[in-house]
Amino acid sequence: MSPGRASGPVVAVAEPAAAPASGPAPSDPQAEAARIAPAAQAVAARLEALAGQATGDAATILLTTAAMAGDPALVSEAERLVVAEGRPAPRAVYEAANGFAKALAAAGGYMAERVRDVEDIRDRVIAELQGVTPPGVPELTGPSVLVARDLAPADTAGLDPARVLALVTEEGGPTSHTAILARSLGIPAVVAVRGVLAVGAEALLVDGDTGVVEVVAADAPVVAAVREGAAEWNGVGATADGHRVKVLGNVGSPADATAAAEAGAEGVGLFRTEFCYLDAPAEPSVDEQRAAYAAVLAPFAGKPVIVRTLDAGADKPLAFLSPEAEPNPALGVRGVRVAFDRPDVLDRQLEAIAGAAADSGAEVSVMAPMVATATEAAWFAERVRAAGIARAGVMIEVPAAALAAEEILAAVDFVSVGTNDLAQYTFAADRQLGAVAALNDPWQPALLRLIALIGRAAAATGKPAGVCGEAAADPLLARVLTGLGMTSLSMNASAIRAVGAGLAQATLADCEAAAEAALATQSPAEARSAARG
Ligand code: PEP
Ligand code: MG
Repeated sequence: MSPGRASGPVVAVAEPAAAPASGPAPSDPQAEAARIAPAAQAVAARLEALAGQATGDAATILLTTAAMAGDPALVSEAERLVVAEGRPAPRAVYEAANGFAKALAAAGGYMAERVRDVEDIRDRVIAELQGVTPPGVPELTGPSVLVARDLAPADTAGLDPARVLALVTEEGGPTSHTAILARSLGIPAVVAVRGVLAVGAEALLVDGDTGVVEVVAADAPVVAAVREGAAEWNGVGATADGHRVKVLGNVGSPADATAAAEAGAEGVGLFRTEFCYLDAPAEPSVDEQRAAYAAVLAPFAGKPVIVRTLDAGADKPLAFLSPEAEPNPALGVRGVRVAFDRPDVLDRQLEAIAGAAADSGAEVSVMAPMVATATEAAWFAERVRAAGIARAGVMIEVPAAALAAEEILAAVDFVSVGTNDLAQYTFAADRQLGAVAALNDPWQPALLRLIALIGRAAAATGKPAGVCGEAAADPLLARVLTGLGMTSLSMNASAIRAVGAGLAQATLADCEAAAEAALATQSPAEARSAARG
């Protein structure tokens, strides 16, 4: 979920349609071919009209896409396929656009970045020919509540918080990337609302704090979320008796970094570099990566920043690092495992990170996602140091790594607990799946017991252990994590002040007592109330 309460008219996100059938051949190919140009023009005209209502980058993007929709080369190739090859018009557009997309991808660089636009145009023109709603997030003409089965992280990242009042999805858990991105955009969201699409509501009230979604009258007033007043916090992460716990930001873009710095983050505990490339069809060059990372690091000159190397795979596929099709992608070649296969990609990323550190003046450390063993941790640390980066760490997201925390800490300078994945793998519960969302509750006592092991390993080795999963964003749980021995907490900008303020109101002994009480329970609800007591 993502906090905030809003209500307004519903716009449903249409599911992608299957590829159009390649037959039967049209009885009048000339007439069939003649349908294509008007459909493309209608799409272009609609995009131009939307561009007229938009401003800034959004207007430029819409105008560029409109121009592509009107591209005579695409239309004439599709017409040729109808007349010469006997394809129905939708199939002809599909094949013509795919041919263009392939050529753009092969050209690389800027051209390759246009592949998604061509696919978008393709789907819009096909929908126009078939008389159905185009798939994906529609262009919103006014403030709306978006309802979808699920949204890809790339689609969520592109949402305009000025137009999207709230987001409701049928799939996804509290720690899915859709929920994380919605929180970072400040859009109230409730995930795992099964059956919401079938209700067909015209307007909804969405409460991202309680998870309640209510059908309201179609003419009910439109209400946008109002940001909570900022909690009082002096900007130094510490308990009431002065025990230091750094309060850091989770970021994935320059806008996130600015928001985290403005909220008072003492540094960055997790920079998700893959969020820069969710849409990239080809590996960005070292120089491109260096510039992209430096832009995110800029607000943190002189402050600590932990950059995570690309966490590709499972729910965050990167086009240039997609593995072969896998039966269970979450258990497959993802995170650091991709780097074992492609160490050249890791080395180029490390070179770019080292350059960005020099350009920005941030105190950069690097960590790897999805590490399972101390041997993997040592392999990664050696490559980081060879790249001239002083501090190397790893994430603890796999139960095996939590159980081997002491050996892992011996191989690196720090660890950071990814509670989102650690919960997913501990409970064997897909974090994207609404049906098992309750198992991914970060208050699960079994998850807390694994974190306690990591806290003990940190104390034994004298090295830092932070939390950068969504667990750290809950002020009460933040105290429990402090009591379990975590030395830093990293979260979305919107949670920073509340967590900092919450820590300052409890002593270390209070935090330890809350942790001990929560550990002894058997359910998330019991753990919450034990910690509160
Ligand atoms: C985590 O798994 O807790 C984490 C912080 O990484 P991500 O959410 O990006 O998988
Ligand atoms: Mg993770």
